[in-house]
Amino acid sequence: MSIKIRREMGKYEVIIIGGGPAGLTAGLYASRSGLKSLLIERGIFGGQIVNARQVDNYPGFPEGISGFELASLMHEQAVKYSLETMNGAVTAIKRGKTYSIITAERIFEAGAIIIAAGSEYRKLGVPGEDEFVGRGVSYCATCDGFLFRDQDVAVVGGGDTAITDALELGEHASKVYIIHRRNQLRAGKILQQKALAQPKLEPVWNTVVEEIIGDSKVSCLNLRNVKTGELSKLEVAGVFVAVGSEPNSQCFADTIELDEAGFIKTNESMATSSPGIFAAGDIRKGSPRQVASAVGDGSTAALSVFKYLRETA
Ligand code: NAP
Repeated sequence: MSIKIRREMGKYEVIIIGGGPAGLTAGLYASRSGLKSLLIERGIFGGQIVNARQVDNYPGFPEGISGFELASLMHEQAVKYSLETMNGAVTAIKRGKTYSIITAERIFEAGAIIIAAGSEYRKLGVPGEDEFVGRGVSYCATCDGFLFRDQDVAVVGGGDTAITDALELGEHASKVYIIHRRNQLRAGKILQQKALAQPKLEPVWNTVVEEIIGDSKVSCLNLRNVKTGELSKLEVAGVFVAVGSEPNSQCFADTIELDEAGFIKTNESMATSSPGIFAAGDIRKGSPRQVASAVGDGSTAALSVFKYLRETA
């Protein structure tokens, strides 16, 4: 069935914001359904997975695949079916007869929107963190881990990312401290077992970083035990912050309902509180934040858009 929306320059049936696995899958499904579709990405197509050296839990790749390669294949497959893609940062969306999608350079119009803008690394918010980014403070072990060969480093956090990072850093560094604010990791059991069996990895329980110290680069962390209040110093050359992520949803806050942490509320069709706007992937409330779940969200959102446009045409 053809959907009656004018196909003029800058006008699309659906615009997808964000080019990670959720956005690229939404783009693939939308364009394969015959919808005139544009995907706008402000950074690298593939999103956060391009930083993953190895993705082991994405079905279809029993030997694992590098995040960069997986992202490239997803992009290649989506554009093969006429998805248009461009680089740009969406600053606002406005609702009229159709939706306006506003970037610094242009305003686009679309009958529906899929927001798949993902999330960003959460910061610790302690003195020294911003100052030493790139000089010992990192948010990406895969990108920067090799810089710390035979040096002592710390990872902050107790989730899957922190433990995956710690294991990866264990291949380069002489010692990896895992600084966690509780005495129990949140990471999955298999990762925990691997980490606790690796002699280079040493947990520092019930502890938070209060300050990152250095001269031209990081040399030391000021720590506080949250149970005893005891203060201590830990000499490290690098600190990898892996304390979760924040959704990139600020510019949608006026248009759709977010939860208290800023994640977009959706129903099982990926519909948001605003008709015609759908959300997919890490930016969605309750997302398990896996590549496989993002891909599922993306396909669901695109199929929902197709249904929505057919019903409202
Ligand atoms: P996460 O699960 O939200 O874990 C964040 C960790 O940081 C928690 O341990 C948390 O402590 C700690 N934390 C949060 N804010 C902090 C602060 N201000 N100071 C100190 N510590 C703080 O985030 P994630 O590890 O990035 O994982 C996100 C999602 O991606 C999860 O669903 C995860 O399963 C998935 N993931 C999967 C894989 C995989 O291999 N399958 C790899 C990476 C990520 P508390 O525990 O006390 O809350």
